[in-house]
Amino acid sequence: MDTTEKIETKPADFIRQIIAEDLRTGKHAGTVTRFPPEPNGFLHIGHAKSICLNFGIALENNGVCHMRFDDTNPSKEEVAYVESIQKDVKWLGFDWHDKLFYASDYFPALYNYAVELIKMAKAYVCDLSAEEIREYRGTLTEPGKESPWRNRSIEENLDLFERMKKGEFAEGSHVLRAKIDMQSPNLNMRDPVIYRILKVEHHRTGDTWCIYPMYDYTHCLSDAIEGITHSLCTLEFEDHRPLYDWVLDTLKTPCHPQQIEFARLNLTYTVMSKRKMLQLVEGGYVDGWDDPRMLTVSGLRRRGYTPASIRNFCSLIGIGKKESWIDMGVLENAVRDDLNNTAARVMCVLDPIKVVIDNYPEDQVEELEAQNHPQNSEMGTRKLPFSQELYIERSDFMENPPGKFHRLGPGREVRLRYGYLVRCVSFVKDEAGSVQEIHCTYDPATRGGSAPDGRKIKGTIHWVSARHAIPTTVRLYDRLFLTENPEADKNTDFKTHLNPDSRISMAGAMAEPSLTALPPGAQVQFERQGYFSVDPLESSAGRPVFNRIVTLRDSWAKLQHD
Ligand code: ATP
Ligand code: MG
Repeated sequence: MDTTEKIETKPADFIRQIIAEDLRTGKHAGTVTRFPPEPNGFLHIGHAKSICLNFGIALENNGVCHMRFDDTNPSKEEVAYVESIQKDVKWLGFDWHDKLFYASDYFPALYNYAVELIKMAKAYVCDLSAEEIREYRGTLTEPGKESPWRNRSIEENLDLFERMKKGEFAEGSHVLRAKIDMQSPNLNMRDPVIYRILKVEHHRTGDTWCIYPMYDYTHCLSDAIEGITHSLCTLEFEDHRPLYDWVLDTLKTPCHPQQIEFARLNLTYTVMSKRKMLQLVEGGYVDGWDDPRMLTVSGLRRRGYTPASIRNFCSLIGIGKKESWIDMGVLENAVRDDLNNTAARVMCVLDPIKVVIDNYPEDQVEELEAQNHPQNSEMGTRKLPFSQELYIERSDFMENPPGKFHRLGPGREVRLRYGYLVRCVSFVKDEAGSVQEIHCTYDPATRGGSAPDGRKIKGTIHWVSARHAIPTTVRLYDRLFLTENPEADKNTDFKTHLNPDSRISMAGAMAEPSLTALPPGAQVQFERQGYFSVDPLESSAGRPVFNRIVTLRDSWAKLQHD
């Protein structure tokens, strides 16, 4: 081995540096992170960034990463989401072992902590309406105003809070607020609401509770209860950190995790919030959360993305402190790079036109040897049936081709991949003038694709034997939006930027017969076309339906360049 060869290592990001330093100084016995989704939607590629970060750090440091459902808002949460989230995290390749938690498990503890705050005169029951609370809060430029209920006695607060819990009050009539500072420059510190009345059944606790703790109050305490060392979250929580710390400091919890914020993933040509994604699903703009055009983990899985490609993408984009945008092309490249190494090459004609080889014996079938991967002989070979009638791509024939067109045209010769050289001798048109059938002759001396006389043939095209091909449907998926940032203009509905051609169905495609054996989810490269996968929902035995995962090259980059 060349000793000067450098092993490429990426410098640790700022969070990994903090954790390494904490381990070096022995600040914690070990590293404990958590991934805390709210079960109110499916996970998306942005969550994948957080998953790779939290579970990745645990793996790298011999630590653990907890899976915690932040289920404090029963009106928007569902068991179906809890299940899909677990499936997605596992599919991405991560494991929480026995560390599966729910914030709802802490409802009794959180209630007791709230009682403690009341007893310390650090929380009070407020009778202002939501509207009034907003008014009293002030703005960034105006200080807040104290609630008339702020100085209730501890006894009265304890009594009212208990009665809130018992269900004696209507929704919206009372809340419990932390008593912090209405003059604080940080709006989050102006007596934030920590409990509200919600007469809604919870998917785990049923009707046990009719008061529910707010996110900011729940999150820090859940972290502390679980002994989290580093609580990693996205930048929008930076302003909430003083409250995170205030709750834990005031209650003097034995564990005080360090909240560290990082920049969320923003990806071009998509929307990245569960709320917006829900609009697409509920409005029927896509076929569900796992529509192959959705940037959800389940959509990417169904499209044919590999977990490794998503992990590689997350590692490539890294972790930083500044908001930035990642081009969709980076994600597409990640799956291209992965599948380039692993996907078998096969042939499928998306828009077929028939080719008859006039001088090929009508009853003859040859088995041609085809490589499954041009650079990896270990992936083996397969047999391709060849017969007198074939299908080729309609776009590979031109009646009056320009000079640079290296495919088929009258009198022109082309190479059939793994087959013979064929020359077009005539073609048949229908009444409307469109080409119906192409007639060729083949050169029997060119089996395998090269001519013994050394004549140069520039074009190689893919084909299938008409008699042996399997009819299949191929869905050509493209980006869901036409503009880089569909949310850029706040006055325009992001849905006006949807790409009307984000799914084109090729219902008459013809695939080589080996493709009937592919299991659901399998990925292949259709030569010259791109990477495709067997759709797990629409395919049936022997009848695959294919999803285009990604084209072979970044056609969008080319468009922009042109
Ligand atoms: P959304 O904005 O899509 O509704 P969310 O932040 O409300 O997402 P949660 O279920 O609360 O969704 O998120 C779980 C974790 O995933 C949080 O720690 C959150 O910071 C992180 N996360 C969410 N979106 C992104 C993103 N785009 N990039 C990185 N991390 C994200
Ligand atoms: Mg959230």
